[in-house]
Amino acid sequence: SPPLLVAENLDVTYVTEAGEVPACRNVNLTLHRGEILGVAGESASGKSTLLNALARLQRPPAITSGGKVTFYPTDDSDPMEISSMSEEELRERRWTSLSFVMQSAMACLNPVIRLESQFTDVIREHDPEVSKEDASKKAGELLEMVGIPAHRLKAFPFQLSGGMQQRALIALSLACDPDVVFMDEPTTAVDVIMQRQILSQILHLQARLGFAIVFVTHDLSLLLEISDRIVIMYGGRFVEVGSAEQIYESGLHPYTRGLRSSFPPLSEPVRKLHGIPGTPPDLLGLPVGCAFAPRCPRATQLCLEERRN
Ligand code: ATP
Ligand code: MG
Repeated sequence: SPPLLVAENLDVTYVTEAGEVPACRNVNLTLHRGEILGVAGESASGKSTLLNALARLQRPPAITSGGKVTFYPTDDSDPMEISSMSEEELRERRWTSLSFVMQSAMACLNPVIRLESQFTDVIREHDPEVSKEDASKKAGELLEMVGIPAHRLKAFPFQLSGGMQQRALIALSLACDPDVVFMDEPTTAVDVIMQRQILSQILHLQARLGFAIVFVTHDLSLLLEISDRIVIMYGGRFVEVGSAEQIYESGLHPYTRGLRSSFPPLSEPVRKLHGIPGTPPDLLGLPVGCAFAPRCPRATQLCLEERRN
């Protein structure tokens, strides 16, 4: 299918007093229409930095210091460069093209406004032709799709459980039929059972509505279950990119293997977990070679001297 978002030689830097933190380096990536792309990596590997740059959620001190991200609208209007979209273009595209679900629903939902108004506001802001009744009806359908009874539209977000808030936010992210939903650890705040339930609802909705997803998590085995393609990040760079099968069956990089054994699939018998020993690299003092080499059980002299990505 045609491309939806294309990142070329993308560099993202945090400009801080301590120095310029290279949190994303030389990212080349194409997200296709309707694709589920997983992004995995330990804490501080640059997952959120990348997602924010792709979704135009980036805030200072982060800057796009190199390369670009191009969005190809599905209405076949002209491609737009994400980082140079005007506020007005962004407002137009937010929810209708580029939508998102973050880790903390409460940071995105307004706790003191009833769900119904939050849905109808978003729907009618982007399509003033829609009547309040129709917007409300659509909101109810969306809630039902994530397993929340439509009458809960009358509730305030704070009256819902954490899992329900998260599901309500997923429903809201779909209110204007977006082309892509960016999800940054959308299920981290809920328990494992709820997590499974939410994931299967997301997959169900995706199959039905056809939007693309960029799904960020440190849990690689979860991504193996839901993604078409998976990116493995370390120290702000792509370590490996492949289909879920490729990553599962022949993920070659020792870091990928380390991540896999840190988060074994739920279907496997319970065993002792081994995290990856050591800590993520200091981005202000990255080694010359592979950033993972200092922690890698299989590092050779070449790994210390040369970087492949
Ligand atoms: P996590 O799994 O913990 O959410 P992540 O993979 O999303 O981690 P990022 O939040 O993208 O990681 O951070 C990547 C790097 O950028 C880290 O080294 C982090 O310290 C640095 N960083 C993030 N935000 C800022 C900021 N506002 N100022 C300076 N450095 C930052
Ligand atoms: Mg993050």
